[in-house]
Amino acid sequence: FPQAIILTIGDELLLGETLDTNSAWIATKLHETGFKVLRRISVGDDRQAILQALQEESARTDLLIMTGGLGPTSDDMTKTVLCDFFHTRLVLHEPTLQHITSWLQQRGTPLLERNRAQALVPEGCTVLPNPRGTAPGLWFENMQHTWIALPGVPHEMKGLMEEEVLPRLKQKWPALQAIQHRYVLMYGQGESQVAERLVGFEASLPKNIRLAYLPGNGLLKLRLSTVDGLALQLLEDYHQQLITLLSDIVVGTENLPYELLIAQKLLAKKATLALAESCTGGYLAHLFTSHPGSSAYFTGSLVCYNPEVKIQWLNVPAEWIQQPGVVSEPVARAMAESIREKLHTDYALAITGWLGPDGGTPEAPVGTVWIAASHQSQTLTRRHQLRGDRQRNLILSATHALHLLDE
Ligand code: ATP
Ligand code: MG
Repeated sequence: FPQAIILTIGDELLLGETLDTNSAWIATKLHETGFKVLRRISVGDDRQAILQALQEESARTDLLIMTGGLGPTSDDMTKTVLCDFFHTRLVLHEPTLQHITSWLQQRGTPLLERNRAQALVPEGCTVLPNPRGTAPGLWFENMQHTWIALPGVPHEMKGLMEEEVLPRLKQKWPALQAIQHRYVLMYGQGESQVAERLVGFEASLPKNIRLAYLPGNGLLKLRLSTVDGLALQLLEDYHQQLITLLSDIVVGTENLPYELLIAQKLLAKKATLALAESCTGGYLAHLFTSHPGSSAYFTGSLVCYNPEVKIQWLNVPAEWIQQPGVVSEPVARAMAESIREKLHTDYALAITGWLGPDGGTPEAPVGTVWIAASHQSQTLTRRHQLRGDRQRNLILSATHALHLLDE
């Protein structure tokens, strides 16, 4: 495998103010493309630190991709450091100046000297045009190594990677073996339990197929991988075996967020969904609507946070708020049934719970969540006792609700 190192630049990364999502995203892409990522490193906006990182890391790797510090402000110094490193100087790149000029013109922003400076590039590099911003990407190579500098703004970096960098890398390394993955998503059992069930399976796995356990959001994902182009059929066979072995807990066989797997099932049935969300405050609605195409199955959500809203809009009898309580089976059931009828959908989900840290009653202490999933034929309800903090309980509530719809 050709090897890669990712270097992200910016004081905000070292302070922890900005999460270094760039290097995680780039690592995933490089890995998929067939590179072995050796290291991910971050340094501050500091000439000496950037230069030192370039000097130390370059020898270790075939490819070094860096992001950040290409902007128009004084803390952006990647280009001049690259000039020092390559013993070259900045020269004007005319097409980039034209791009910057029209980019700013379209936005009614004056062309400042500092914008013009963004059209200066180290002499001898290949300029990767950036239609999403003013700073282009920069590509350097010699016989042994390739260096790429990209802007730090995540959507600009991603655009340049997809449109310029990855195609060029594939051209430069035509024999790259892309890694192949297969996934199984499960609900209801943890890593240890599943590992127990897979002792025999793991022992039977050949060396060129790897298994990874990836728990998250109240679900467990298993990933089978191979980099061996000849083992593809084998990968499929082991994937099928996993699905069969764990069929009682499998909820998905693709690497998709759970809400999308549910969405696929709704779409296949041409069914629609409505939500009544109390403690999740619209989070489930956000999960569904953050994916394009959700209007085909998602009708709407009522965020009925205050009990008064449940009474007024969802026909929950006022006395139920006290007894059996606002977090109770009958309330969840009434919420789901009412919203389904009001929004004329095939299915509805309702959630009422105490996510903490405050609230709760003796019958329904903090962490109690009641979920209802309603269809014309029946309404299912479930109680969960969650033990996380507020944020974790929110995510777990959503996962449990999605699963109830899946039952
Ligand atoms: P541009 O040239 O387009 O202005 P730049 O190369 O100067 O970008 P920076 O100024 O370093 O990039 O960062 C721009 C924005 O991108 C900042 O808001 C920063 O928080 C964000 N950013 C920078 N590096 C990363 C990173 N590694 N992961 C996530 N976000 C980042
Ligand atoms: Mg910066």
